[in-house]
Amino acid sequence: MAKEEKEIKCSFCGRKKQETDVLIAGITGHICNHCVTQAQTIVRDELSQNSGSSLFSALHLLKPMEIKSHLDEYVIGQDDAKKVLSVAVYNHYKRLIKSQSKTSQKDEVELDKSNVIMVGETGTGKTLLARTIAKILNVPFCIADATVLTEAGYVGEDVESILSRLLQAADFDVAAAERGIVFIDEIDKIARKSDNPSITRDVSGEGVQQGLLKLLEGSVVGVPPQGGRKHPEQKMIQVNTKNILFICGGAFDGINRSIGKRLQTQAIGYNVNKENANVDSDNLLQYVSPQDLKSFGLIPELIGRLPVLTYLNPLDAETLRRILSEPKNALIKQYFHLFEMDGVKITFEKGVLDFIVEKAMEFKLGARGLRSICEAIMMDLMFDTPSDASVKEINLTLRYAKDKLKKTLMNKLKAA
Ligand code: ADP
Repeated sequence: MAKEEKEIKCSFCGRKKQETDVLIAGITGHICNHCVTQAQTIVRDELSQNSGSSLFSALHLLKPMEIKSHLDEYVIGQDDAKKVLSVAVYNHYKRLIKSQSKTSQKDEVELDKSNVIMVGETGTGKTLLARTIAKILNVPFCIADATVLTEAGYVGEDVESILSRLLQAADFDVAAAERGIVFIDEIDKIARKSDNPSITRDVSGEGVQQGLLKLLEGSVVGVPPQGGRKHPEQKMIQVNTKNILFICGGAFDGINRSIGKRLQTQAIGYNVNKENANVDSDNLLQYVSPQDLKSFGLIPELIGRLPVLTYLNPLDAETLRRILSEPKNALIKQYFHLFEMDGVKITFEKGVLDFIVEKAMEFKLGARGLRSICEAIMMDLMFDTPSDASVKEINLTLRYAKDKLKKTLMNKLKAA
């Protein structure tokens, strides 16, 4: 027997068992860890070579209207942003296919890149929209926070670190990463602080905007695989950003003033027209223009590389109520599912959901607040129920919800 075991070999490379770390047995042969790794690389290369055509078929399947209706399943409201994004994404991938097509001729029209910038209060769904788009298209996606970026040579992260994240999301498959989507959050935080003359070097503002330019326009960038700072001795991965779609988002606090001022000057100036007379002053963001971004402190070059500008509406009570229960992965659906897994059917008394929404509005937490309020209300039930086999049904009453939330808030206040 012992002799027989010694003779077990990898059926692919012939390595003996003791020369491998792992030898997996199949029906008629064996494969070692080295061959598994090599085979994986071959499969990945083959797939990425064919990915142009699979993307092409995806594009034929997903027209802007279809992209939007997918978005509708996860994101409530925000119709303008959804429409704009659907078209931008559709055109972006059209451009990608055109650039990959071998039949393209020299004198053909070149399609510009359609990077997007979204302006909207925090918690209104900017990240959710970008994430959902990436999910629909099945491309690598990462979120980068503009606030941690600094100009090269300063403490913080280099702009290239954004691409390290994308590479990680793509499992270091460079070709896949090069067709991915990057969401840069808090882009407003790197606005030029022009009204502060004491800052001679705007380390985290204009310098970073300059740094982002080369990423957004499309160039080959050396990316440190682990992110963070670049080290001279570190081996860089070359990534071409030409076909990466960048979606930027920011709250742009105070931009309303600049929009309002612009609309007013237009109204009293030569451009007076009926449209301005009907301005919806409660939601000025819908009129945002590149000019306002410039007044806010984004440099014109950066604005130029983010040609698709859209906005998100603030969330009112009705939208929050829908967010609680309508999206595919709505919070309430998630709780139903969690309890169901313990064999328990949970129902909510009339008024509980409205109460949760009311509190979220009161705390001004937006949709993000819905989750923390729900957690506060449900925590004890989620702790107790799994250990009590006698519970098969729970009807969560309004009184219980109010009571739990009050207790949690009081505990938090005591702790503070
Ligand atoms: P932002 O990026 O605008 O700050 P997010 O997209 O991160 O906000 O939203 C935070 C959370 O709130 C999301 O994960 C989602 O659960 C919920 N949410 C926000 N807006 C919406 C919306 N319009 N539809 C559905 N859920 C939303």
